[in-house]
Amino acid sequence: MTVKEYIPKVAMSIHAHPDDQEFTVAGTLARWAGSGCEVVSVVITRGDAGSNDPAHDQTYKPTLTAIREQEQRAANGLLGIRETVFLGQPDGELEPTIPLRKDLTRLIRRYRPQVVVTGDPQAVFYGNGYINHPDHRAAAQLALYAAFPSAGSRLLFADLLEEGLEPHNVERVYIHGSEKPDTWVDIAGTIEIKLAALRAHASQLGDWDPEKMIREWATEEGKQGGLQYAEAYKVMVLEESEDRGTTD
Ligand SMILES: [Zn+2]
Repeated sequence: MTVKEYIPKVAMSIHAHPDDQEFTVAGTLARWAGSGCEVVSVVITRGDAGSNDPAHDQTYKPTLTAIREQEQRAANGLLGIRETVFLGQPDGELEPTIPLRKDLTRLIRRYRPQVVVTGDPQAVFYGNGYINHPDHRAAAQLALYAAFPSAGSRLLFADLLEEGLEPHNVERVYIHGSEKPDTWVDIAGTIEIKLAALRAHASQLGDWDPEKMIREWATEEGKQGGLQYAEAYKVMVLEESEDRGTTD
């Protein structure tokens, strides 16, 4: 028996900064979008701390915000994502607050994704060389608890009902950057698109070419899943779906 590949009809990618999605899950999103999935890309902060150029001070922030929005839209265009939502929070100061959880709950109820894709709210250390950005953890926690229990609980943020936003049950949460992944998405067919989308974030890359690192990551995650190139996830299955979408 062959297992049908799970491809959602609607997926929502929720991340802290412009470019987070491209570094992590863009191969998966491009694969899904290419199979007819409507992907909604949510960026919570403005990314306006993303420059260490000594020529700039805080007066540069609105300009940088605009640059980074444009880069994210370009990246999403390459990935086949038509819907991009910016929540406009200050970069570097993100906290998992109830008002922000409500904002994400509103988006989930509006777009009604089967899948939410986000980071791991438990991840503090990656190896010995990278402390996970606190915005990443906060974004992941916000996304997780907006997906469950907030989106599906009628009397949680009950005033959303007055906006016509009925409860919605998310079927699955795909968590990247987990220490214990259990699901591998084949990105051999989309790694080039992932690289192109990442390169759209020119303000962040400077002269650095991310290709070697991205291929190494994809190879490493692919090894675990028996694939050439993969993106790895811990997948929470909150609801079994009847219709499992298209297959490959
Ligand atoms: Zn980031």
